[in-house]
Amino acid sequence: MFRSLHMKLVLIMVLLIISLMTVVGAFLMNSVVRFYLNDFNERMTTMFSAENIDFYEDLTQPYEGETDGVEGLQSVLRPSMGELGVDGRTRNYFILDGTTGAYLAGSDEELGRSLDVSPNVLEAIRTGQPASSADITENYMDAAIPITRGNGSYIIYIYDNRQNIQELNSALFVLIIQALIFGLVSSVLLSFLLAKTMITPIERLTAGAKRVAAGDFSRKIEVSAKDEIGVLTTTFNSMARQLQATIREAENERNKLDTLFLHMTDGVVAFNRQGRVIQKNPAAEDMLGRPIGEETTYAQLFGDLADMDAVLALPQPGYLGGQKAVGERSLELLLAPFDQESAEGGVMVVIHDVTEQHKTEEMRREFVANVSHELRTPLTNIRSYAETLADGAGEIPPDMEKNFLGVILNESDRMTHIVQDLLTLSRFDSGKSELKLAPFSFEQSIRDIYNAVLLEAQRHGHVLTVELEPDLPEIIGDRDRILQVMMNVVSNAIKYTPDGGTGRIRISAGRAGEKVWMEVSDNGIGIPAEDRPRIFERFYRVDKARSRESGGTGLGLSIAKEIVDRHQGSIGPVDRPGPGLTIRIELPIGGPSHER
Ligand code: ADP
Repeated sequence: MFRSLHMKLVLIMVLLIISLMTVVGAFLMNSVVRFYLNDFNERMTTMFSAENIDFYEDLTQPYEGETDGVEGLQSVLRPSMGELGVDGRTRNYFILDGTTGAYLAGSDEELGRSLDVSPNVLEAIRTGQPASSADITENYMDAAIPITRGNGSYIIYIYDNRQNIQELNSALFVLIIQALIFGLVSSVLLSFLLAKTMITPIERLTAGAKRVAAGDFSRKIEVSAKDEIGVLTTTFNSMARQLQATIREAENERNKLDTLFLHMTDGVVAFNRQGRVIQKNPAAEDMLGRPIGEETTYAQLFGDLADMDAVLALPQPGYLGGQKAVGERSLELLLAPFDQESAEGGVMVVIHDVTEQHKTEEMRREFVANVSHELRTPLTNIRSYAETLADGAGEIPPDMEKNFLGVILNESDRMTHIVQDLLTLSRFDSGKSELKLAPFSFEQSIRDIYNAVLLEAQRHGHVLTVELEPDLPEIIGDRDRILQVMMNVVSNAIKYTPDGGTGRIRISAGRAGEKVWMEVSDNGIGIPAEDRPRIFERFYRVDKARSRESGGTGLGLSIAKEIVDRHQGSIGPVDRPGPGLTIRIELPIGGPSHER
């Protein structure tokens, strides 16, 4: 209950009341004493002044036949006791000797004899003038009035022991204490009331601030009044709202960045100034081929490329580039400092996998070299035959001339072939060549191929057979292109099987689920296992001389693979023991589900 502010409030009120009561009490009690003193002095002055003629004369003029001045004075003073306020208890009068101040008579003899000669009495004796108390700190008040009566000189001494004042002051003191207690009790009660109106809203505000500090923005603080605390609460609420919006925005940004970070293909690793990993993405681990934990350091990962201090010292927006080979991968790295000014800064490394790029670049170079080579051979042939013809014009026998011209024609046909095949491939590459999809009979296509190549096979002395499963379905595809693929595979089987009557070429086909398949099997020269994965590469030929001899370009199977891929089918050698080779083609009956 007595929390700090509340306690302070009570304390302030208690102190306030105590000090107020002390001041009021002191002032009051002082005033009472002063009042009595003034009243006493005034009464004495009025009573004993020469203007109070009757009384004054009674005091100074002795009676006729008066023998004792003291007696005379007594007879005057006694009846005036009431006027002088002499009650014999708190206030008394005494008649003293005018020269020594010794007691002669009075209203209380015992007291009169015991009293010392007071300063006022001495003053009156010395000056012959009345003297009365002015000091409020004394515990009595008195007045000494010198009187001459007849031959005697006396001092009328009025002495008041202030008992009345003390009693009144005691009563006042009790009253003040009572008021103080009452004030204290009411101050405690008041402090509760104040606490309710002032401290409770502050406490509510404090609790709200604590909630916000802990990240809980769910509740608004209730505004209970329109006073300063109310304004503060409203301001706090709007501040919390703004803070929440800002935090949400920042979180949103961070989430976006996290997602980007997680799914980006480039690898990213961030290090703090001490070289410890503070952030990394899966791509980075994948590219660097190792797990990256919190204990992984910059030096372990990239220390060989550049010193971390060197990267940190780079002027913004500078960065260092580098390359690294990890296993089969070629990586390109970019090292840049971030937040250089602050202690939270560090180094960010972005890793770009350029393996594919390098491979493609390599393939492109190889391809250009191949094309140049393939075109140069027929060109050289054409040129040399044409030169011979030109040099020996009219001298060359007609037979030979015809022969030469035949070679020139053949070579230019081959060049045309190569150029046509290259054009086909380039159309596939650029996506310009679209498939003309339509349903057609798969079985009939195979039979057409069989009929088309039968004579050629027989010319080479091969036995060509065809074995088809019954009820082969119609399929959807680009018929001409698929025929081109079949033709290429069957022609290859004929080409790469030695003549001489032992050649056996078998075409078979069937259905497997939602696919149809065709296999072309020969017992020819086959392809060594290590070369098999490469036969679909452009210009790849196991035996270059033989292929060229038979008019091959080394592009047939590449084109076939492009076509089959576009139909979302597959083509490849069947893993079987030699001799010869079996190529299997599979095509979806429904055609490609979507054209690429
Ligand atoms: P090419 O026009 O040279 O025949 P392809 O792309 O059709 O080109 O074939 C690529 C290479 O694969 C051929 O050069 C040949 O070495 C090999 N090849 C293809 N089919 C056969 C087969 N049935 N038997 C042996 N080798 C083959």
